[in-house]
Order: sequence, then C-alpha cells, then structure tokens
Amino acid sequence: MIQIKKFTFNQVQENTFVAYDETGECAIIDAGCYYENERQELDAFILEKQLKPVRLINTHCHFDHIMGITHCKNKYQLDFECHPDEAILVEQAEDHGDLFGIPMEPVDAPDLFFQEGDQLKFGNSYLQVIAAPGHSPGGVVFYNHEQKILIAGDVLFYGSIGRTDLPGGSFERLTENIKTKLLTLPEETVVYCGHGPETTIGFEKKNNPFLT
Ligand SMILES: [Zn+2]
Repeated sequence: MIQIKKFTFNQVQENTFVAYDETGECAIIDAGCYYENERQELDAFILEKQLKPVRLINTHCHFDHIMGITHCKNKYQLDFECHPDEAILVEQAEDHGDLFGIPMEPVDAPDLFFQEGDQLKFGNSYLQVIAAPGHSPGGVVFYNHEQKILIAGDVLFYGSIGRTDLPGGSFERLTENIKTKLLTLPEETVVYCGHGPETTIGFEKKNNPFLT
C-alpha cells in the first residue's frame, strides 16, 4: 500500500512528495526543499518513519522542483532520475532561477533516465511513467493503477493546468496530453499536484475550465 506524504517548499510553494509503502522503502518526488529548515523537515520525516529512500525521481525539472536534489543525492546516496528531454532544464536551472530572482546552486546532470511506460519500483510498489509534455519538454506524470494515485507535477492542477509560456511549453500539446492520457484514467483517481491542493480526475473532467 503506497502512502503519500506531501511537503510544500520554497519561494514558489512547490509540492514535494514522499511515496512509501509497508517495506519502508520510499521514493522522493520533485525534491524542492530550498531552505535549511525545509531540508530538515524532509529528513526528520524520513527518520521518524524509518524510511529508506531508494529513488529520487522528478515529474519535470523546472528550478523549483529540483532545489533539493543535491541535498537528497548527498544525504541518501541516490541517483537523480528524470525524462531525458528534461536534462536541458537542469542545465538552465540557475539562469531560470535568476529570472525569478531566486539564487540557485547548480544541480548536477541527471544520473539516470526513464521513459514512458517504465515502472519505477520501490519496496513492493511501483509508479508508472506516463509522458505528458507541454508544460515542459519532457514532463511526465507518475501513476499507480492499483491505488489510482496520480502524481501530476505541473501538468494538471486543481481547476487549472500548468503554464505553457516557458521554453519547451505548448498549450496544444499539454491539453491534448491531459485529455487523452489523464482524463481517461478512472474518475476516482486522486491527483497530487506540483502546486496547490489535491484533486481528482472526475472533478477536473467536470470543472476544469481549460479542458472543456
Ligand atoms: Zn514546472
């Protein structure tokens, strides 16, 4: 049984998730912890639950989603994994941060790449990679079919969708991917978003003004 812990970190209120199961193994998703106290909060949770981080995976690599990557890599000896088309964003993270007036320390290039359809395992559990570019060039979402859990990054938000004005963004591509790959999931699927509150596929199908 996967359990999800949500943290909201950094200057732009990015959601970082820890997905863990009964084995104690966990995946850290979109590590955005920036300030020292945020890193301590993440570490304290892992320690308190006696978790063993075995994966460091990202839905995409905008600067606000990778601010804690170096910390997690060093602290837990993890490889940083993302889609290959996101590697360029890791390179550009410092510049991107500057645009927002947020100083960033450089982040090393990703160590491993996953592709659409890959099952990212931890403990007895997995998250399946679904490619959904449009907010970013190689953006993905992570889906668990048994529990109907979707980690959506900045693809889909409660009542909204990710911005498409950043490099590699495309409104047509994003909305097409959401309609064909996300809204076709079971309506009761719980969606954990990269910013803001959780939602469900059923709610967004009925209410999301960008998808009608
Ligand atoms: Zn983003």
